[in-house]
Amino acid sequence: MDFSSKLLENAVYEMSQLPGIGKRTALRLVLHLLKQPTEQTQRLSGALETLRSTVKFCTSCHNISDVELCEICANPKRDESLVCVVEDIRDVMAIENTGQFKGLYHVLGGKISPMEGVGPQDLTIQSLVNKAKEGKIKELIFALSSTMEGDTTNFYIYKQLDGLEISTSTIARGIAVGDELEYADEITLGRSIVNRIPFEGSLKAN
Ligand SMILES: [Zn+2]
Repeated sequence: MDFSSKLLENAVYEMSQLPGIGKRTALRLVLHLLKQPTEQTQRLSGALETLRSTVKFCTSCHNISDVELCEICANPKRDESLVCVVEDIRDVMAIENTGQFKGLYHVLGGKISPMEGVGPQDLTIQSLVNKAKEGKIKELIFALSSTMEGDTTNFYIYKQLDGLEISTSTIARGIAVGDELEYADEITLGRSIVNRIPFEGSLKAN
């Protein structure tokens, strides 16, 4: 792309670093911002800067939060003996939307993926195992997407829990293999949590 302005080129370049945004889309978005009042761009960049500099992660479940302990973990009505293991905040939001789950979450921050250089130490697995050893958790529900990485991660965690009295289950799959959780509709996802199956059973089925 030939730009008449270095400023424009820089802005388009930075925008195109976002996932799913090619150079053309980046140019369209930047030109759109230029047509809007200055304050709009200031609000956008201000919101991003504030988010980046002040965002916290819940010290217990590692979900994105404005405070030390997120609203879900701090809610005394939630069942702390039941913990749903998810990849990121999008899964928490999707499951919360179903209104079917009253336990807590544990946000891993990704999945084990040797291809992408993500190992167990890059995720919050140790923190989960430590919590499990405290003895409050009775059941862990694996709700990672059923990709190879998701299965590997489930199995790794399952092995780490060896010797602990915790039952493990996996959400029932109305969701096709490889689908990401966030795209599952609320009713299907809600049902798949209610009708979860023992994790060991899911291993034999594979
Ligand atoms: Zn939390």
